[in-house]
Amino acid sequence: MRIVDVRERSVAISRYRDATIPSGGLTTSIVAVVTDVMRAGRPVVGWGFASVGRFAQGGLIRERFAPRLLAAADLATAAGDGLDPMRAWRAMMAGEKPGGHGERCVAVGTLDMAIWDAAAKIAGAPLHRFLVDAAGERRLETDDVRVYAGGGYYYPADDEARLADELRGFLDHGYTHAKIKIGGVPLDRDLRRIEAAAAVLPAEQLAVDAMNAYDAPRALEAARALAPLDLWWLEDICDPLDFETHAAVAAAYPPPIAAGEALFSAAEARLLDRHGGLRRDRDILLFDPVHCYGIPGYLEIALGLGGAEMNPLAFGPFGGLADGTAPVKGRVAPPEAPGIGFEEKAELARLFGTLLDD
Ligand code: MG
Repeated sequence: MRIVDVRERSVAISRYRDATIPSGGLTTSIVAVVTDVMRAGRPVVGWGFASVGRFAQGGLIRERFAPRLLAAADLATAAGDGLDPMRAWRAMMAGEKPGGHGERCVAVGTLDMAIWDAAAKIAGAPLHRFLVDAAGERRLETDDVRVYAGGGYYYPADDEARLADELRGFLDHGYTHAKIKIGGVPLDRDLRRIEAAAAVLPAEQLAVDAMNAYDAPRALEAARALAPLDLWWLEDICDPLDFETHAAVAAAYPPPIAAGEALFSAAEARLLDRHGGLRRDRDILLFDPVHCYGIPGYLEIALGLGGAEMNPLAFGPFGGLADGTAPVKGRVAPPEAPGIGFEEKAELARLFGTLLDD
């Protein structure tokens, strides 16, 4: 069993439902992993996409990781009846040294997503069942998953009014909890946008994400100002490797804080655990599988964290749930289509399909 073709293309994405609002040239990579397994006369193909916040990874994918996958003579499971994603991952990582995670982890995570999609399709199972049955991941046994709406990026004009509109849209889509961005403007302006958001959604259902923007003095100033608001959580406070500032904020900020999205390996996660000041009784871990080498890397850190961020209005067509699906009381059943379930989103499936056009 082999991977016979890997396609990759960079595509522009937007943080806004209105994609004409500038998003700083943000891009992501889409990939197709074509296997030599035939179903109904066509090869089984897995789809994947890179981070929606850290730009496309085409160079690393095309020059380094795709060639290793294509060179692997056999990627079958021990029983010979399926594609073994762990074997494919080891092929991609051949010769890579520890450390230097940088953007490499996202390039590998993107291909890994497509490999798991293909492997689950070959097994005829949705990914969440494939992981439970084939990979023994009992941590994923669940009927539904808690979800929340991510978004709330700064609008270049009418920011607070448009932010409130966006949050009302989340509620209309069936979400009960949401997360907005802070840290990109002076604190008094952020406090006004939090106030506008909290007029739509109670503070205990509203999280804020500082996108790692604060230095130590600003982080502590923000922590002191935000603590009385009792928000759902405060996320990505400072540089992800500035554990000293992170721990100082944790000591000064009693409500929950959230961290992990910009950490890229189990080694970095251990540093956060040891030095970040996290409180096990309340704080939130939110590692992103595609940021940490895909599922094999994620398994070493934190699978089964109990929830997922959705982006119902941003990052189209990647954000949001399957077509016609809405959360019920903030929870959603995982897709039952074989693989990850990208085919349940028509616009996304069409975009992936263009990878095979030529
Ligand atoms: Mg974040």
